[in-house]
Amino acid sequence: MLEIALITIMLISIGFLAAALNPVWVIYKNQGSLGQGYAWKLLGVLIIVFILGYIIYSYSLLQSGIKHIDFVLIFILFSGSCFVLAVVKLSLISIKEIQKINLLERHHTLYDSLTNLPNRVLLNETMSGAIASAKRNKTALAIMLMDLNNFKEVNDTLGHYYGDRLLQCIVPTLKKEIREIDMISRLGGDEFAVILPDTDIEDARIIATRIIDAMKQPFAVDQHELNIGISIGIAQYPNDGIDGDSLLQKADVAMYIAKKNSLGYSVYDLNRDKNSIDKLIVLGKLRKAITNSLLTLYYQPIINLHSGKLYSLEVLTRWHDEELGNICPDDFIPFAERSGVIKQLSLWVLDNAVEQYMNWQKLKLDFVLSVNLSARDIQDETMINDLRVILSKHKMPPSQLNIEITENSMMHESDQSHHILSELNQLGISLSIDDFGTGFSSLAYLKKLSTQSIKIDKSFVIDMLDDCSDEVIVRSIIDIAHNLGQDIVAEGIETKECLERLKELNCSYGQGYYICKPLPQMEITSWLKENHKDID
Ligand code: C2E
Ligand code: MG
Ligand code: MG
Repeated sequence: MLEIALITIMLISIGFLAAALNPVWVIYKNQGSLGQGYAWKLLGVLIIVFILGYIIYSYSLLQSGIKHIDFVLIFILFSGSCFVLAVVKLSLISIKEIQKINLLERHHTLYDSLTNLPNRVLLNETMSGAIASAKRNKTALAIMLMDLNNFKEVNDTLGHYYGDRLLQCIVPTLKKEIREIDMISRLGGDEFAVILPDTDIEDARIIATRIIDAMKQPFAVDQHELNIGISIGIAQYPNDGIDGDSLLQKADVAMYIAKKNSLGYSVYDLNRDKNSIDKLIVLGKLRKAITNSLLTLYYQPIINLHSGKLYSLEVLTRWHDEELGNICPDDFIPFAERSGVIKQLSLWVLDNAVEQYMNWQKLKLDFVLSVNLSARDIQDETMINDLRVILSKHKMPPSQLNIEITENSMMHESDQSHHILSELNQLGISLSIDDFGTGFSSLAYLKKLSTQSIKIDKSFVIDMLDDCSDEVIVRSIIDIAHNLGQDIVAEGIETKECLERLKELNCSYGQGYYICKPLPQMEITSWLKENHKDID
């Protein structure tokens, strides 16, 4: 009886060892690729050897009968088999957990958490593969870049919750219009990209038209029916580029043109305009110009119209490219904003201009430095700290810095930008509304903003003497500014007559070609030395 019990324990032990073989095999197969398969293979072989040992020992028990020592041995062997089985099973569970975490992490790095679509990283990986395959098989390949038309308005008016929900809602519609082999990804914000393997331009046009039609339907987000259009830019391999970056850049240019001209979609066309800004961005020069400090700072004085004394120097960025010549900021700033390099540009401008300003302090002049920031900058919470760092690096008192933000950027103001503007104010930095009159600010809104001055847009000032309605606008803006307790600056003063008229209208400060054109640092330094007292 006792013999049977002990033999049964031995058989159970053998069963445990045999059961451990399967997890060892599974781990061996999984770990093989990581180079640790060898150890698990060895363990498997050892377990088989143990099993054989257990069988031989059990057989000897049957043959020679059970001695006292066998009780101890059988107990040790049973514990050993339990131990092997437990260790191997637990290892398998841990390895599976680690694999799950790895998969999840990979998912996080490759997929967008809001829409669960592939993100830019996976897009780049897939695009390299698609390009290689198109090259190998000599097949066509098209890339589409898509941007929603009224997304910002949805975000601004209904809030980010609805913006996010809308993005989630449109994904199934977009997916329905493309094929299984196409890959749609979200690049960020309301920007999506689609890789279309084996697709020539004509097919890409058909797909784009289908997507545009599908996006014409209103999307129901909770109780709201949202109408949102889409603009699409198309680029083609290899005509428009042989790598992912250049194809995306060109699709971006095409998308910009589609959006600007309300075309729905547009196919990249190198010959559209040899000098147009799209060519610049295509050549990737803007990013390089900013990173390699190829931009130059010009400075234009703003003076007190009544005393003629210098009030401020406005920093205006210039870009001269050897091949393309001079490119004005109105052309490259929007691209810097859209391609995400604006922050780098703004910080570069601030750092260099503040450094230069501190050099001018040796001239013992009392004036403020005016720097233009873009709408994007005032959405970015980290900007405040960056500004603080620059000011303390150059030991510039914040009260000597004035930030100009266009009326249009302020209009798209969100809680975030409102918060940033008041933080800047609290730091002691003054704020101006630039290009005033071109946007649609309400008076109540103006009152709410923590700005100190208003700059009348030059379009009203330049022709003020010939165009009565322009003068009426200028006069009204001056009155509004005075009533709101704001300083008023007129830009675009091109003649002495214009300057005199502005003085009569009680405009405090002015800037324009008549006073001084924007000049590079050396020339403006000479101008400061010669003219800073009186201008006539
Ligand atoms: P803004 O800030 O309104 O600057 C005034 C613009 O008017 C400048 O154009 C200046 O050269 C021009 N201007 C000044 N006086 C006269 C005049 O009497 N007649 C005429 N016709 N024009 C005059 P610019 O330098 O081409 O800059 C255009 C805009 O680009 C600027 O308008 C500003 O909004 C933006 N900008 C320039 N530099 C930067 C920068 O570093 N960062 C950002 N975010 N924007 C910048
Ligand atoms: Mg300005
Ligand atoms: Mg302006």
